[in-house]
This record gives sequence, C-alpha cells and structure tokens, in this order.
Amino acid sequence: MKIHLENFDILTSTRSSPIEGGSVLVRDDRIEKVIPESPGGDSISADRTIEGNGMLLLPGFVNAHSHLGMTIFRGYADDIELDRWLNEWIWPAEENLTPEEVYWGSLLAIVEAIHSGTTAIADMYFYMDQTARAIEETGIRGLISYGLIAEELDQKGSEELQTGLELADEWDGKANGRIRVALSPHAPYTCGDDVLKEVSKMAEGKDIPIHTHVSETKKEVEDSLEKFGISPVERLESLGVLENELLAAHCVHLNSKDMDILGEKDVVVAHNPSSNMKLSSGAAPIKELRNQGVEVLLGTDGPGSNNDLDAFGEMRQAAFLAKLNSNDPTALSAEDTLSLATAGAVDQLGLSNIGRIQEGNKADLIGLTRKGVHWTPEYNTVSNLVYSGKSSDVDMMMVDGNMVMEDGSIEGIDEEKVMKKVRQIGKKYGQIRKEL
Ligand SMILES: [Zn+2]
Repeated sequence: MKIHLENFDILTSTRSSPIEGGSVLVRDDRIEKVIPESPGGDSISADRTIEGNGMLLLPGFVNAHSHLGMTIFRGYADDIELDRWLNEWIWPAEENLTPEEVYWGSLLAIVEAIHSGTTAIADMYFYMDQTARAIEETGIRGLISYGLIAEELDQKGSEELQTGLELADEWDGKANGRIRVALSPHAPYTCGDDVLKEVSKMAEGKDIPIHTHVSETKKEVEDSLEKFGISPVERLESLGVLENELLAAHCVHLNSKDMDILGEKDVVVAHNPSSNMKLSSGAAPIKELRNQGVEVLLGTDGPGSNNDLDAFGEMRQAAFLAKLNSNDPTALSAEDTLSLATAGAVDQLGLSNIGRIQEGNKADLIGLTRKGVHWTPEYNTVSNLVYSGKSSDVDMMMVDGNMVMEDGSIEGIDEEKVMKKVRQIGKKYGQIRKEL
C-alpha cells in the first residue's frame, strides 16, 4: 500500500520551521520519501492520495505513562493526596472492576488520546488483554504492562508475575509490532526485593522493558530511606532492575546521586506534570535531568489523577512547570517540549524510529489545521503548537502507515456507543462511591 500525503506543511524537526507545501510518500508502515515540494498532478503513483490543503504534518505524540482503564474513575475522587486517594478511594473501587469495564474504559481513553494527536501510549493497569484489544482495534501503538503488586515471591507474588509474563507471551509484537509488552512492578514501595529481582531477571530473559513508578512523593522517598537506608532509585539499582531498559514514571523527588544513576543507566523518565501538580506531589527536576543526559518523555498519568488525556495540555504544563520550578524561562523551550512529547530523541522502548519525519521511519503522523483564532498570527510554528495548540486542531492521524483518523473522525469506532457504555459503567461506581 502506497499513500501520498500531498500539500502539507511538514515539520521534520522540532527545531525548524515547516517545509511548506511538501509531500510525504508512505509505503506500507514506513515513510519512503519526504518531498519538499508537492509535484502536483499524477506525477507520483500511489494507491491513495490525501490532500492536506496546507495542514501541518508532524510525528504523533507519545503518552509515556498512563492507566487507560481508569477513565472509569475520572472525577471519582479529586482533591486528595496520593496516599489517601489510592488507599481509601481508588484501590477499594478497583476491586469491583471487570475485564469488560476495562475494555470500554480503555477504548474511551484511546478515543480521547487520538483526538489529541497521540499515536503511542505506554500503559500500565490490569486486565491488560482488554486494553490490548482496544489498542489493536483503534490502530494506535502501545507499550502495555500488567501493574503487579507483591511484597513477597510467595504464591500470590508468583501469580502476579505470571499474569505479567502471560501478557507478554500473548501480546508482545502483535498487530504488526504495534503492541509491545513490558513488565511492571507497580512501584518499589509496593514490591519487595525478591519480587523486583525476579522481575528484572524475567525482563532480561524475554528482552522486554520494565515500566514502573519511581519516587513520586516525598513520603515514598522518606519511607525508603527509613526502611532500606537508600533512595528508591538506589534500591532499584542495587537489585539490578536498572540493567534493563527502564521507563520510570514521575521521578519527582530525586537527589543528585539518583540523577547520576538514571543518566548512567540510560533510564527514560516519564514526566507527568499535570498529575504531579494535581496530587501536589511536587515538580520533577526536568532541567537537571536533561542536563544529566536523561531522556524525558511526557505522560498524562491515569485519567483519575489528571483528569484527561490531552497531549497539548501536558506539553503546556511541562514547559510552564519547568520554568516555574527552576526560576528560569529557558528551562524547557517550546522546541524541547515538542521533542519530549514526540519521543524525538529516544532510542529505547521500541520508540527509536517514530519521533521524526524522515525516510525509513515509521509512518506515525498527525495532521493539524491552523485555522483557529489561537493560531493567529504565526511567527513561530513550534511556539504556537506547544503554547497555544489544542486537541481540536488535530484532524488527521496515520499510525504504522494506516489511516486512524480523517476529517476528525476515527475509523471504525462508534464514539457515541463508547461514551454510552462508559456512562453506564459510571452508574455502578457512582453507587459504590455513595456507599463508601
Ligand atoms: Zn501512574
């Protein structure tokens, strides 16, 4: 299949202005050619030509940390600190979840993410085969994992690990490689040493990454220092976990030694500014991490703690929070923020050839209209995109060379039906919430 994307303004790099009126030729799942000027007419033979009418074409956004099934708990328990939010509200409610509910919750989340230009999502939750189904059906890319919680490698711990491994056996590499699987110990504070060591060994054996929460709150770090005498990052290092490809969500409370370790071990940090602000967890030291050479991506975290899956919101919050936190308006520029949001510089986690529009890369692309008042005037395209762009600008999406959305409409998905299903599920949890 050969698709000719004609007459787009192409943003090939986050540091440049777009190539105006260019073309991209996509063959199967890859970008075959970037042509600076649309040749026009029928001079390029393709199975299909898509007319861009001057839309902005850029790589899709990567949401590096989420819990998609949690759309069900959007607005369920707001304005509470993380510890109580989890223990008193979310974990008791989650005991009632069914696989079917996670499927619909995931589907709703993916629909929202697609409308926001997100082409790939790293997701950790449970009943993940249901999330995998939703990813497969909608056509996006996913790095999925089962969030396992186990103090010991006893029967329960082994079963938890087994669930994670079965997901990998069943889904890793499926959907033409769009679905990859990681192992996810939920966090160092919810998993014992033996469990973390075993996860690490298994991930190495299967050659798959690890995705976990790290140093999200001050309390978590204090507890680790008290119980183990070392920080969560040092503990993960001492247990061998950092020998694997690691996606570490949050990393809010780090000391300079932690940052050295993350840099040395090529850990990729998923920064979740909205969630960190909402739960009052703190501001991750993004400027310092990047100075240490640590690769940072952006994540929305789960819709229970954000409460949306808006890539534009996350870019804006990331840039603003970094500036505020370091008292330095140059701490994270619009160009750098866009690079974080599109995984433009990451070579791990199966994301090595998606974040740039260049020949040979995967065709994971989005098209944006710039007709809104918030795009007017346009001195610097990347500035407008990061600081005033909106999800409603996203009109077109291609993932792995397949059309996922055209004219703002997602292929093969009945959005009304998805919303109706999740509203119905919400009624069940509304009742449970009342009884708490
Ligand atoms: Zn999370």
